[in-house]
Amino acid sequence: NTSGRPLVLEFHEGDRTMAELLGGKGAGLAEMTRLGLPVPPGFIVTTEACRAYLAAGGDPEGLWDQVDAALADLETRSGLVLGDPDRPLLVSVRSGAKFSMPGMMETVLNIGMNDEVVAALAERGEAHFAWDSYRRLAQMYGRTVLGVEGARFDDLLTEARADAGVATDAELDDAHLQRLAAAFRELIMAETGKELPQDARTQMREAVRAVFRSWNGERARLYRAHEGIPDDLGTAVNVVQMVFGNRGDRSGSGVCFTRDPVTGAPGAFGDYLPNAQGEDVVSGVRSPMDLSELHRRDPEIHDELTRHLQTLETHYRDLCDVEFTVERGRLWILQTRLGKRSPAAAFRIAVELADEGVIDLDEALTRVNGHQLTSLLHPSFQIGAASPLAGGLAASPGAAVGQLVFDAATAMEWAGLGRDVVLARPETSPDDFGGMLAAKAVITSRGGLTSHAAVVARGLGKTCVTGIEEMLVDPVGRVATFNGSHVLAEGTVVSVDGSTGEIFEGSREIQASVVATAIQATASDATTEPPADPTAGAVLRLLQQADKRRTMGVRANAETPEEARTARRYGAEGIGLCRTEHMLMGPRRALVERVVTDDDAPGALEEIEALALDEFTTLLTVMEGLPVVVRLLDPPLHEFLPDLVDLSVAAAVAAAQGEAEDPVAEKRLAAVRRLHEANPMLGLRGVRLLLVHPEVAEVQVRALAEAAARLLAEGRNVRPEVMLPLVAEVAELSAARERLESVIADVAARHGTTLDIPVGVMIELPRAALTAGALAAHADFFSFGTNDLTQTTWGISRDDAEASFLAAYREEGIIAADPFQTLDEVGVGALVRTAVEQGRATRRDLELGVCGEHAGDPTSIGFFAGAGIDYLSCSPPRVPVARLEAGRQAV
Ligand code: PEP
Ligand code: MG
Repeated sequence: NTSGRPLVLEFHEGDRTMAELLGGKGAGLAEMTRLGLPVPPGFIVTTEACRAYLAAGGDPEGLWDQVDAALADLETRSGLVLGDPDRPLLVSVRSGAKFSMPGMMETVLNIGMNDEVVAALAERGEAHFAWDSYRRLAQMYGRTVLGVEGARFDDLLTEARADAGVATDAELDDAHLQRLAAAFRELIMAETGKELPQDARTQMREAVRAVFRSWNGERARLYRAHEGIPDDLGTAVNVVQMVFGNRGDRSGSGVCFTRDPVTGAPGAFGDYLPNAQGEDVVSGVRSPMDLSELHRRDPEIHDELTRHLQTLETHYRDLCDVEFTVERGRLWILQTRLGKRSPAAAFRIAVELADEGVIDLDEALTRVNGHQLTSLLHPSFQIGAASPLAGGLAASPGAAVGQLVFDAATAMEWAGLGRDVVLARPETSPDDFGGMLAAKAVITSRGGLTSHAAVVARGLGKTCVTGIEEMLVDPVGRVATFNGSHVLAEGTVVSVDGSTGEIFEGSREIQASVVATAIQATASDATTEPPADPTAGAVLRLLQQADKRRTMGVRANAETPEEARTARRYGAEGIGLCRTEHMLMGPRRALVERVVTDDDAPGALEEIEALALDEFTTLLTVMEGLPVVVRLLDPPLHEFLPDLVDLSVAAAVAAAQGEAEDPVAEKRLAAVRRLHEANPMLGLRGVRLLLVHPEVAEVQVRALAEAAARLLAEGRNVRPEVMLPLVAEVAELSAARERLESVIADVAARHGTTLDIPVGVMIELPRAALTAGALAAHADFFSFGTNDLTQTTWGISRDDAEASFLAAYREEGIIAADPFQTLDEVGVGALVRTAVEQGRATRRDLELGVCGEHAGDPTSIGFFAGAGIDYLSCSPPRVPVARLEAGRQAV
């Protein structure tokens, strides 16, 4: 031991801050000992000793001297002696690492039992207890220390119960237990050629070594790999005086929480089993009773327990969970740690602790997170035991039930008849938009988490599961086949869980989110009563606190008036991204096709302008007083043009059937062939399209300026902004900007007024980030399009990467998270930082937003706060999540 750190510490020598050295359990026991709680005496063999043992393959020098000294002290405190038949001390030897690894490592109980001790105890009238403890020692020691297969002991137990004609181990009498102890020892001898040691100290040492070794057991290794726990921490070993809950009616064991971990309701909550040991409570062999049973049987003990729970909660200033045992009317606390809790409980407990003055509201804010809030906002299925038909990517959360349909037209038709439908497609295209709007949920066989189906569904707050590989959709035959053989016809009812990505056959019961309802009600009417639901009330309080603290603004990505209204109700402070191509989906798609294929372009443009005027007017009105960032058309053309292969096949079939040439079809085919791109995502989209076909941008900007001018004239405070997508080069920006400004100036002049419409640029290509200093000279603001920036920085397709290899990468551990979901700080983040730095160097007051999906991801928001971003813009349902996270980042 060269580090100088102790190999052994007694409980009263440690405290809660020492989990690294003492393990979580040991640190808790030490802290409780300091607090004067009734913890059985004991000591901790530290993680330092474990690491040294594993490194050297043997005992570290001085270990047993230190253990013996601590044991001597333990004997003094307990008044008992290890291995002494007159006053036998029994100890447990338990693992306990820094991070909880439940059940992954070893434990040996009843160390100190041997022939002499058992005989002496039996003589004093405790034969049953003595033989039961002895056979348990033989069983655990044999398995854990000597490596005898556990099932062999179980077989003998089963035989013993059969011989005795009883159903449970608890019913075995003294004689059975004695025979069982002997049988276990014979088994150990036969299997290993070794005796169960009679020397108590040998038992203890061997047990400690076995616990050390269990750190590297297969279960423990797998668990650590899964949980991301480092392999080199080692485990501590707790050696504690045994106390017994199975010594008659004034004995028992329990597990409890200082509050309800499911609902967060105040008051102790837990299970108690009279006349039982701790394992019996958790193993479920007997059904535990709630704590009121302890109160009924032993009110004094119950009161004492309640007092200790209060002490612990006040001390730890948080929900604690506690294991306890009552031995012949005496209460012992065996373990405590911070309690795991449901998202609903997390909010309620944090706020109630603040109300009780235990913590302040800022700290309460740090006790919850956006992931928890996300799960509280969506409708969900009632808990039930249904097994899914298939699973895919949880692309947009929520729960929905409806009849399967396989095309947008049927979805709209059936929804029009008042039916709930689930739209199933191989993948979605803009043509499906109407169907997506009409459906309760959208499910696709292909596509990742940022495929357009996923992005559109999230924006609409629509339940969506993508990439369901086990589902084969046949829109022509109107069936979907699951797992190769299970065929569901159109009209079959299915349930879709967008939070887990699971699809169920049949109808499952849905419950609406009380929290979402409460948030929306409050934002739209400040005078509403606080909600009756305590969790909803707590969420509102913490959102208020977050709003008070946060420095980042929160806007929404929204196009339709309905989305904009939802966004406002959720507290959005503007629209950070209006994707105008979404306004041109569904039947309007053809207008874009007509412009780019030059098929009566002027007529199509006129229609686009009229539609845009209408929509922008509504949007600006709904968002009155708040900024609305309109992004000019950014359609990857494959989403707006008919499929080249389909058209070619149709032409070939027509020709083969001897039909006369159709000049219209010919012209269309030629145009589509001319515009066809192998990589449309890297093709004629964004600012490029606007420079090649400036007339589209012009009509959009004219409509926006016109809508603004008219509304301003009516005295309405509207705040339009314009944004250019996919810019890579400053000359693109300056050329486009010049055109747009002259359009705005024209409109203003016609109205005899001036219009102040800021023009910004999306930073969504690496070259834009790397030349941001130059771009900033021509831009009023930046908005980071982290979806495309991720796509182009990694060189991976946002539509295909998940299915083609990202999922496999995550499974293999090559990447930890989907970069389209959680911002890749190292790569994409470096570009964001560069652009922020360069942009601000050029223009100190440059406004910086983020409008990619990452703006609504709790993990990524921490990065944006650190990078100096001014506002986040995310899909409307994620607005409260972004508010909460932005607040958390600021405290
Ligand atoms: C982006 O690329 O991050 C973005 C917001 O634009 P879109 O998702 O519409 O490409
Ligand atoms: Mg983009």
